[in-house]
Amino acid sequence: MQLYTTCQGCGKHIVLKSNAVTRPELRKRVGEYVEIACSHCFIKEQVHINDIIARPSGVILWSAMILGLVLAFYLWWTFNIFSLISLGLPFLIWRNQAKKTHTFNDYKIY
Ligand SMILES: [Zn+2]
Repeated sequence: MQLYTTCQGCGKHIVLKSNAVTRPELRKRVGEYVEIACSHCFIKEQVHINDIIARPSGVILWSAMILGLVLAFYLWWTFNIFSLISLGLPFLIWRNQAKKTHTFNDYKIY
């Protein structure tokens, strides 16, 4: 899962480096407002944590897909079996990411 916000100056996405899984957890770590500097237009702004949005991490999804494929080929070449588990692994990781982002985005702080 990756956390990001949109820059008010240029509209580009700014990724927030945090491994908080929920919004309350993020508040505990960084407070209610986060100072973020845009790397495109160099504007510094205070962003409310309700404006921080979670999305599935592309790196994790791609890693899961590659790992699943490698595992599938390995099982096929070594044991001559086709394992649905190896192909199910990326799906499970994708579902887990989707669930985490949904949980994060649904919870707003008032
Ligand atoms: Zn900007």
